[in-house]
Amino acid sequence: ADTKIDFNDYIASIPDFPEPGIIFRDISPLMANGKAYSAATDRITAFAKAHGAEMICGPEARGFIVGCPVADRLGIGFAPARKKGKLPRETVSVKFQLEYGETELFMHKDAVQPGQKVLIVDDLLATGGTVAATANLVEQLGGIVVGTAFLIELKELHGRDKIKDYDLFALMEY
Ligand code: IMP
Repeated sequence: ADTKIDFNDYIASIPDFPEPGIIFRDISPLMANGKAYSAATDRITAFAKAHGAEMICGPEARGFIVGCPVADRLGIGFAPARKKGKLPRETVSVKFQLEYGETELFMHKDAVQPGQKVLIVDDLLATGGTVAATANLVEQLGGIVVGTAFLIELKELHGRDKIKDYDLFALMEY
């Protein structure tokens, strides 16, 4: 049903945001268009299904926007990975490098069950640090990462090299 949709038409490219020399890829026009959002969700849902996902996991905040509708389509759960100070119960955590300095992501200890098959989802793959950290959290909890899925992969940053162990789907490449 989505054969006529060119998803690239729904990505805004903003030069020099958030700083000079960076082109920011903004998915909000895609979210704003019901047909495009639904078709993108269809594609990631098919990948999740093919990989036997029993749970979707995504990092805040755009990982929720992409991952939650997929979980809903499949009638499975969604496990959020969040920044410091957001999760009220016992957590596992992982520190990782951003372009400038270090950050940390957290998940609730009972967010994923041991042996559960988890698909990790985010809007965009850049250096791969965020998704690698999310995979680390899932594996600390005993989950099995069955794949990673994105709306956009920024090819020149070679993020996929950081998550070589997992099958990867990206709807668009820049
Ligand atoms: P990475 O950890 O370097 O792969 O960066 C990916 C994370 O940064 C994702 O959670 C994205 O939401 C965010 N991000 C980095 N660059 C962009 C962009 O151009 N558009 C939207 N999100 C971005």
